[in-house]
Amino acid sequence: MIEVFDVAATRRALARRLLRCPGCGGRLRPWGRARPRTVRDSDGGDLVVRPDRARCTACQATHVVFDAALLPRRAYTVRVIGQALVGAARGQGHRPIAAQLAVPEGTVRSWLRRARRSAHRLWTIGVQAIVALDADALPTREQPNTLAYAVEALVAAAVAGRDRLGSPDADLWCQITVLTRGQLLAPAPAD
Ligand SMILES: [Zn+2]
Repeated sequence: MIEVFDVAATRRALARRLLRCPGCGGRLRPWGRARPRTVRDSDGGDLVVRPDRARCTACQATHVVFDAALLPRRAYTVRVIGQALVGAARGQGHRPIAAQLAVPEGTVRSWLRRARRSAHRLWTIGVQAIVALDADALPTREQPNTLAYAVEALVAAAVAGRDRLGSPDADLWCQITVLTRGQLLAPAPAD
């Protein structure tokens, strides 16, 4: 899986064999498209997306190219999921969050459970990114739970990244998706 900000530019780069395999560094080539899927965005509208696929010319692994607003296997954009995580970080339960976002309770509960399980890993990713960008931006406030520390660190890292890039309109949760390589709700990798 490869998370990118600009799907069209990535498609052009892929066609020119300019992208590298995240696994082995070999050159990637276009490998068709994934099946279409429908994803709900934070404005309540549905997006139909059909991600590009790429195959490594060296190790033959295939990778799906995701727009940074999307997470693998999730039917909502990261803008919706991010709002749920912010709510949980503030101490809200899954039921009021689900009602606010018009998402089924079971779906929100599953997001929060996964994010809590990954909270320490997510916090580490956020802190490492902040240190690399601007150590002065490291959060120092006490937080009520581990997920709150993780969300705070990821948001601070995204803000520091946005300042560095000079792109004030960049969507914070899309940046966080790229920073966490699409693993916001995934279990920690084995290696
Ligand atoms: Zn490879």
